[in-house]
Amino acid sequence: MDTRTNSPSTDTTERLRMYIGGAWVDGTSGQSLDSLNPYTQKVWATVPDASEADVASAVAAAREAFDNGPWRQTTPQQRAALMRKLGDLIARDAERMARIESMDNGKLLREMLGQWKYLPEWMYYFAGQATQSQGEVLPSDRPNFMAFTRKEPIGVVAAITPWNSPCLLMMFKLAPGLAAGCTFVVKPSEHTPVSTLRFAELVEEAGFPPGVFNVVTGGADAGRWLVSSPDIDKISFTGSDGVGKAIARAGAENFTRVSLELGGKSPQVVFEDCDIEAAVNGVISGVYAATGQTCMAGSRLIVHGSIHDEVVKRLVARVSTIKLGDPLDMASEMGPAATGQQFQKILSMVKSAEAEGATLAYGGRQAPQGGFFVQPTVLTQVHNQMNIARDEVFGPVLAVIPFDTEEEAVKIANDTRYGLAAGVWTQNVQRAHRVAGQLRAGSVWINAYRVTAPFAPFGGFGHSGIGRENGHEGMNEFLETKTVWVELSGNLRDPFKLG
Ligand code: NAD
Repeated sequence: MDTRTNSPSTDTTERLRMYIGGAWVDGTSGQSLDSLNPYTQKVWATVPDASEADVASAVAAAREAFDNGPWRQTTPQQRAALMRKLGDLIARDAERMARIESMDNGKLLREMLGQWKYLPEWMYYFAGQATQSQGEVLPSDRPNFMAFTRKEPIGVVAAITPWNSPCLLMMFKLAPGLAAGCTFVVKPSEHTPVSTLRFAELVEEAGFPPGVFNVVTGGADAGRWLVSSPDIDKISFTGSDGVGKAIARAGAENFTRVSLELGGKSPQVVFEDCDIEAAVNGVISGVYAATGQTCMAGSRLIVHGSIHDEVVKRLVARVSTIKLGDPLDMASEMGPAATGQQFQKILSMVKSAEAEGATLAYGGRQAPQGGFFVQPTVLTQVHNQMNIARDEVFGPVLAVIPFDTEEEAVKIANDTRYGLAAGVWTQNVQRAHRVAGQLRAGSVWINAYRVTAPFAPFGGFGHSGIGRENGHEGMNEFLETKTVWVELSGNLRDPFKLG
């Protein structure tokens, strides 16, 4: 078997291999997983279904690279140079990679293009961080001691990602982790494994040493084997809160560090003094972009009673014109749900909401395009105790909840087990800051929504997760702090008079 290349395709279905220890390998089980294009509903790629032995070998490769490989000896400047090179390769291949992800998860090409063209910035920003990460000299109260801290890489990282934005969400982990000097085993979602394997080709081309970046493909079993390995130092997971709990438990077994980026039921709080047109556009972008399949979807619209009808009227008018279609068509505004299971879940949650008393102001059914297409949906007459206001749909479904006072709006917004994101729409600068300060969410946008960047910490309160990605705080997630004490007198003669 030639392990120097990812395997060439023999027909229209792409057949890919895993990337372990710098080699392209088939799985030892001989089993494979199909990746379905959600738009055509046809299998367009197959990947190995990793066995426990494959996962162990990827962990061993990452362990070896961390403990004994050249990576450990690299200077921050050398790591930064490799990362900048990888950033350039991502920029070069952004269009190709965007297309791959669009075929894998059904998200709009135009949206994936925007994402991929911005993705190099993660490598560039954290390349800078690599050379700026520093410990400190501590203010010692012992005249004969100096104490300082060192920032050291946490070690081998297991990165597990979901299907909605596989490489963007991997990048939140990989860029700071590489900058810190960690090595990685990445397991993408079984629904969208292709882009991460293609990404590995870029890592190889950039010249990262073997074992620094490994990819295993598989489903929940592969994930379980990975997170229960005692040779993993850190688990960085993005996905559902249910799996997040299982991962936190698995991490506890070996005291593996765990960070979790989970779901949300994020509020968009729209006050009567807002720019209504901007707010309506922001709400639409917040919940219908990516067919609502984003963790930060602004799925609860908390709107002042005096403008409720006007906002709903304008929303429905615009939502009814959303152009559903082929994700690869740049004119499409919304694609299909990513999987059949997701499609069913969205429709059944809308039905339950109606049974609970919500009114369908628009959508709620399979779209005329058929397949996994769901109509963008607006539900009114929702109160915050209904399941539709409490549980994540991960689909294009907006629940509209009216309020009377600012205090009530904040109370409703915070009455959730989640706390990932929130939007505030008002032209009153005092109110904007006051409310942003009171909202229990990891990211708050004022008169905007869905903006993320490598320099801005991202993560959740409550059930939305543990830890932060991006920014200095994101870098710290991949570092251990070591305190070093240095005895300065050179005259340590009495064993009972130390320090
Ligand atoms: P999921 O939790 O079903 O799967 C995520 C990953 O975990 C997949 O790779 C899956 O194979 C793996 N996995 C499943 N069971 C496992 C186990 N027991 N042990 C280890 N790994 C396991 O999530 P999904 O359906 O792929 O993605 C949707 C979810 O992700 C939503 O809840 C969404 O809110 C969340 N999400 C969060 C963020 C964020 O940054 N906060 C971003 C995107 C998506």
